[in-house]
Amino acid sequence: MSSQYLAKQVQDLKPSGIRKFFDLASKMENVVSLGVGEPDFVTPWNVIEASYHSLEQGYTAYTANAGLLELREAISEYLEDYFSVSYDPEEQVLVTVGASQAIDIALRALLNPGDEVIIVEPCFVAYSSAVILAGGVPVTVSATSENAFKVTPEQIEAAVTERTKAIVLCSPNNPTGAVLNAKELADIAEVLCNHDIIAISDEIYAELSYDEKASSLAEIDGMKERTILISGFSKSFAMTGWRLGYAAGPTDIIQAMTKIHQYTIMCAPTMAQHGALEALRNGRDSVDNMTTSYRQRRNFVVKALNEMGLSCHLPGGAFYVFPSIKATGMSSEEFAEKLLAEERVAVVPGNVFGESGEGYIRCSYATSIKQLDEAMKRMSRFVENHIK
Ligand code: PMP
Repeated sequence: MSSQYLAKQVQDLKPSGIRKFFDLASKMENVVSLGVGEPDFVTPWNVIEASYHSLEQGYTAYTANAGLLELREAISEYLEDYFSVSYDPEEQVLVTVGASQAIDIALRALLNPGDEVIIVEPCFVAYSSAVILAGGVPVTVSATSENAFKVTPEQIEAAVTERTKAIVLCSPNNPTGAVLNAKELADIAEVLCNHDIIAISDEIYAELSYDEKASSLAEIDGMKERTILISGFSKSFAMTGWRLGYAAGPTDIIQAMTKIHQYTIMCAPTMAQHGALEALRNGRDSVDNMTTSYRQRRNFVVKALNEMGLSCHLPGGAFYVFPSIKATGMSSEEFAEKLLAEERVAVVPGNVFGESGEGYIRCSYATSIKQLDEAMKRMSRFVENHIK
């Protein structure tokens, strides 16, 4: 046993609850998985080709620490076109190893020991752990189904203390799919400005918005100076395995993040950066096609779930639905375990995304309509057998 050598912070971290279900499901046959949080599409071919071509041309060395300048310029142009926020590509954009690394180093750049960070649950499983690893203290606020899983400014206000340094917001959201519109973001921004709070805005699903274009927190009045906008290529361009993301924000913060990045990572993978450049330059049609397909799948799944008695909101973005399973009287874990054992459908219990996720399950609809149809048939039979 060598666990006594481990840092206390790490010993105390719980492994992600999502893994357990993948491990169980991977040992079974004939499983329909709605568990994974990644696109079922293969990366667009022109992106693969551009990366391949960069290798053929001999681009196999490190890039600048902050990433290829051409890529940072393309990111900056993209953010200007898409959200009307402008960032200096030389000073205010950092290319990272996925949005995951951007979140990690944003927190490490900001936090002193004991600083509090407001986390809105249910949320992506990495946020609280990243705060703890950066020496901070996560303070959770629960977005509830009654408000379509949208956090309110009053809830944020109530969580603020003298130690509050930052907030992590995610819209469109994983796992609920909730999207905060410009008015809702502006109301939240007022609280953040009043209390001098920095926002880490995880906008990785921004392109995957189905009813209206997503707004960026950075484009709200007064917020660009206090927002670290985080995004990446994993979701919208179906590039999870390429590990490429970015952060854009105020010069001092991005430069501080770049210092951490240069000592710990050097630079994001060069060939992936060449692919990402092609994605931004010529990937629009692919994103539009994938978005159209996700929209159809979302509509299909939401209808089927509501019809079988698992009520759920129509989520505005990302590729998840978060139905209530309360009608079955089971806990989220029990539901997910039994559904997997009895019907071989893998979903993720809502409680892994925070306490307020109890009573819900996350289903990813980033899989074919054929698979979704099969999953809905099996789930419907399961619910019929178990509903109280
Ligand atoms: N943020 C959210 C909300 C996510 O759902 C994910 C991936 N599941 C990430 C960040 C991480 O993305 P990346 O692959 O760019 O590290």
